[in-house]
Amino acid sequence: MSALFPIFADLKGRDVLIVGGGEVARRKALTLIEAGARLRIVAPALEPELTRLSAEGHVEHVADKFEPRWLDGAWLAIAATDDEAVNRAVADAGEVRRVWVNIVDDARRSAFHVPARVERGPLQIAISSGGHAPMLARHLREQLETQIDASWGALALLFSRFRQRIRRRFPYLARRRRFFTRAIEGDVAAHLRRHDDVAAERALRRLLSKDEDSASGSVSLVGAGPGDPGLLTLHALRRLNEADVILHDRLVSKQILALARRDAERVEVGKESGHHHVTQEQIHTLMLDHARAGKRVVRLKGGDPFVFGRGGEELEFLREHDIAYDVVPGISAALACAAYAGVPLTHREHAQSVQLITAHVKDDESPPDWIALAPARQTLAVYMGVANLGEWRDRLIEHGRDPATPFALVENGSHPGQRVIVGRLVELPERARAHGVRSPALLLLGETAAMAERLHWFGSPPLGAESLPSPLAEAA
Ligand code: SAH
Repeated sequence: MSALFPIFADLKGRDVLIVGGGEVARRKALTLIEAGARLRIVAPALEPELTRLSAEGHVEHVADKFEPRWLDGAWLAIAATDDEAVNRAVADAGEVRRVWVNIVDDARRSAFHVPARVERGPLQIAISSGGHAPMLARHLREQLETQIDASWGALALLFSRFRQRIRRRFPYLARRRRFFTRAIEGDVAAHLRRHDDVAAERALRRLLSKDEDSASGSVSLVGAGPGDPGLLTLHALRRLNEADVILHDRLVSKQILALARRDAERVEVGKESGHHHVTQEQIHTLMLDHARAGKRVVRLKGGDPFVFGRGGEELEFLREHDIAYDVVPGISAALACAAYAGVPLTHREHAQSVQLITAHVKDDESPPDWIALAPARQTLAVYMGVANLGEWRDRLIEHGRDPATPFALVENGSHPGQRVIVGRLVELPERARAHGVRSPALLLLGETAAMAERLHWFGSPPLGAESLPSPLAEAA
């Protein structure tokens, strides 16, 4: 079944024919007159208002039965009689003459449909179900009517009046778009909602003359969460919708990038992307160049930007260079992996605290504080750990952590292909190797990791549960 093709037709000064002179014809006539059509009505008799419109010269009345020749010269025709045969004759004649004919309430025989409409001044939303579910279209219309503020019409008219001036002031699309967003989300629309047209125009003029924040762009540091688009925040979604440029990490999922504004420029700056290596300095330069060009930059990071994401460094840099910024937190891998694996990070009996740590330490940085990591009854959430698991096991046991401490290794947490491998600390690297665990993976180590076996709900069940110490597997 092919879909209908929506168009908004300009009927100003064009001939349109209505067949029928009753109540339905009257309704159609009024909207067509409003659209500026030159209206001719063929009907033996007219109801009172149509009679008046005809007497005042708004419509031409042909007091006759329908004949195909009345379609000649018309661009559109509406058959609004209660005689099915007449309606069909109009449709048939329209086919032959290539005149678009609508039969009121007969979608199947109509060459065009008249949609349900929501109107706010020149702004129109047309809704059609293609004749399949008119009730649904009507229902949707009612919902939109309540949701879309009446001031949108005034806003459209105001923009229309200032159109040339706005274009001259902001010749480039990116800045123009920002100007409009400010007007729509800021004062201008707010004044119109209060019906203060004068203040609205004043606010618009002020926005047009303002230089400072239109001169330079901004950077939003946005956390994209662990991969499942459902875990994005509304703020993140809005930033993605408004972005001119998106500088994203390799870990950010395709589904999330697909939610961003379509014409936003997307640049992958993953430090391990492909064969080239994008340095942190290069990322800084990219942010700066785009922001200085007046763009709205989204620096999109996996998880949360402030958890092993070098977000702090990036903000320091932006601050030094006087670029406006904001930060949208995201769901960090530790939180997501714990939730999606059924591993509570804290637990009244089994885990009093949780530590977020990275297994990946640079030579020039201080080593992990093994003494602090070893005690029982705390959960360790270890990022970037796949390669160093042997050392982690050895050091933790050496410093006194129980070799039987359960772990859950979560690979691709929250993605459709998520895998959870469970076991005990003493066998951690061997188990990871046996299952070929690859990055991105997060290690959850601690008494509650055993609960994955009972509480898991997402994807396939944990692998290796049989080797867990049984009392813990049952604790809950
Ligand atoms: N800022 C990010 C972390 C970046 S460091 C955050 O807050 O989540 C990258 C590490 O995060 C990976 O090596 C891995 O350990 C972890 N990680 C990120 N996404 C993950 C996912 N979907 N599943 C498992 N681990 C993930």
